[in-house]
Amino acid sequence: MTKIDIHNLTVTAKHGVFDKEKVNPQPFVFDCSIDYDFEKAAASDDLALTLDYGNIMQDITDFCRNNCFDLIETLCYKTAQMLMDKYPINGISLTVKKPQAPVDLPFENVSVSVSLARKDVYLSLGSNLGERQEVLNNAINQLAENKAVKVLKVSSPYENPPYGGVAQYPFINMAVKISTYLSPDALLDFLHAIEAKAHRNREVRWGDRTLDIDIIFYGDMIIDTDRLTIPHADYHNRDFVLIPMGEIAPNFVCPLKRKRISELLKEYS
Ligand code: AMP
Repeated sequence: MTKIDIHNLTVTAKHGVFDKEKVNPQPFVFDCSIDYDFEKAAASDDLALTLDYGNIMQDITDFCRNNCFDLIETLCYKTAQMLMDKYPINGISLTVKKPQAPVDLPFENVSVSVSLARKDVYLSLGSNLGERQEVLNNAINQLAENKAVKVLKVSSPYENPPYGGVAQYPFINMAVKISTYLSPDALLDFLHAIEAKAHRNREVRWGDRTLDIDIIFYGDMIIDTDRLTIPHADYHNRDFVLIPMGEIAPNFVCPLKRKRISELLKEYS
């Protein structure tokens, strides 16, 4: 892994909760560690193949000066997001220090930090109401329109009978590979917003639905919270997930079962 680090970049700007902080500029000090693959640049000694750290420092400076946030948390997160959206970087850890925070006690600075990292994520999409293919295409377009998301692969559509004994109409299912720096929870919120726009009704479990999007894998993370189970709890028992996944990622290894999708497909059939 290769990194580019910037230490103590100081920008004078107006962020803070108090009125006086919005009028009188004060220093904000940035530390930044960027996960960027510069192996090719190092081998060829070619500036065009690496990140120009001068541009990055200028972007941080402009962003900090041109905005006015109450919280350094917001300044920190949005600066990191801006850099992830603009540059082809794998991840970033960013710290913002506020040495003149308005606290009348002796201290060096107060700081906040954020780390963002791009992960490959596999989604399963299904629709069995309305113009099903159009609903799925719209959902994929909305994924692609989010700057935090890159759509990397889309499977063919597969028609399947309804699942779970409640829904009545046949589904179209697809699998999509994305890369994103949204956290699993933030991604789930975004997917629910896409489902809501498709007028998804959540009243009947396993009922007919215009759009369902499930997170099957989030990198190699294993998550089990009230809100999220990743890898998806039942994906290996669902051919409508395994078959499209097998098309776009036959060699992906499930971090829980430690088996390739192609093996799980063989076991299923
Ligand atoms: P669904 O009916 O498929 O939309 O799922 C209902 C709920 O399942 C969601 O509100 C999530 O909180 C929860 N859930 C748990 N694990 C997952 C996952 N891997 N992907 C999507 N939703 C999940």
